[in-house]
Amino acid sequence: MNFNLPDETKMIQDTVRRFVDNELIPLEQEFPDRANSADLPDDIQGPLIKKVEQLGLAAMDAPEEIGGAGLGLLDSCIVTEQVHRSTVGRGVFAMRFAPVLHELGTDEQKQKYLLPMVAGELQGASAFSEPQAAGDLAGIKTTIEKHNDGWVINGNKCWISYAKRADFILVLTRLKGTERHDGLTWVIVEKGTPGCTIGREQKMLHGQSTYEVFFENCVVSETQLLGGPGQGWGAGTSFLYTGRLGIAARSLGIADRCLDLAIDYAKQRHTFGKPLSSRQAVQWMIADSATELHATRLMVYDAAWRAQQGENVVQQTAMVKSYATEMVSRVVDRAVQIHGAAGLSNETILERCYRDVRPMRIYEGSSEAMRSVVARNLLR
Ligand SMILES: Cc1cc2nc3c(=O)[nH]c(=O)nc-3n(C[C@H](O)[C@H](O)[C@H](O)COP(=O)(O)OP(=O)(O)OC[C@H]3O[C@@H](n4cnc5c(N)ncnc54)[C@H](O)[C@@H]3O)c2cc1C
Repeated sequence: MNFNLPDETKMIQDTVRRFVDNELIPLEQEFPDRANSADLPDDIQGPLIKKVEQLGLAAMDAPEEIGGAGLGLLDSCIVTEQVHRSTVGRGVFAMRFAPVLHELGTDEQKQKYLLPMVAGELQGASAFSEPQAAGDLAGIKTTIEKHNDGWVINGNKCWISYAKRADFILVLTRLKGTERHDGLTWVIVEKGTPGCTIGREQKMLHGQSTYEVFFENCVVSETQLLGGPGQGWGAGTSFLYTGRLGIAARSLGIADRCLDLAIDYAKQRHTFGKPLSSRQAVQWMIADSATELHATRLMVYDAAWRAQQGENVVQQTAMVKSYATEMVSRVVDRAVQIHGAAGLSNETILERCYRDVRPMRIYEGSSEAMRSVVARNLLR
């Protein structure tokens, strides 16, 4: 057994680590409240994105033949981990790939939506959640129905990230009259399509808003169906599994940085005449965080490597997603505790991380849903 990363992967890891240390971390103090660099001024963000393109890491998950970096899952997890060591890393390495579009799209759909997305020219959003069903995807009610002029969509979506600035939204609907997993159908709805309106902004604690999206007799042509009527389950939901690994990799990066901050602070902060690092209570917090981070890293790399070898990793990714997001919550919390008031102020990035990690236990499969997947596989 060899637990060393391949040399090429180590090179990518070093490159991104240096970029994050030199270019992104110094910006954190200048822009303490920014959720990600999408909020940075254009004159700062533009050149950073150019540098990522020069490193060959823009659209890292997208295959090379459509203009992406074509990284495998392991390399992509390694990059994601490094990027998330900084709170300003995300926008610079923003997601420019839609696996569902790649998996189900026709050549024309890929030319029109996917390639410009990978090139950073179009922004997409993905809408499956509804007021009555979000965790329970098969419970969605938004319908699609054949119509003289094409297909007509009716229903409401909520919690949709990027909906306001998206050029197109991938919408999960169901053929009218079907239930549960039958009839689920993805549709591409372009911004400004009559009958599709963006509703209330739903502010989130970590600063990245989501939105309601309404469909009222919204007519789209046959060419907007993604993968044909009723093919939405199975094919179109497999992207969730790679998404879960990505979230676990983000947890590694955030935890890694918060642990570093906790160690540095424990060494320099003196109370009652001694450094915090000399107190067993603080040492144990640091030891627990390091141990949990190490265990999670092995789990993430293992699942990513297995997925890359073509193994079915549904079980592993469910384990990893809940374990990693719960691990990072504990690690951030301990780092805040070690910093005292400073950890709650905007003088460090810890309060930002504290807010950033909370949604991760809910979206793309809550901790409870992930445990259900694991238990179901074991008990069936
Ligand atoms: C920041 C953020 C961004 C998001 N972006 C998007 C987006 O871009 N597009 C999109 O479509 N959606 C998005 N969502 C929605 C997200 O997918 C849902 O929040 C998630 O699927 C959970 O659904 P829910 O919030 O309705 O919770 P529910 O499904 O109502 O669950 C509520 C709680 O009950 C638990 N629970 C539910 N069922 C069971 C059960 N059977 N057994 C035990 N416990 C259970 C859950 O684990 C959870 O803790 C986003 C959410 C957040 C927070």
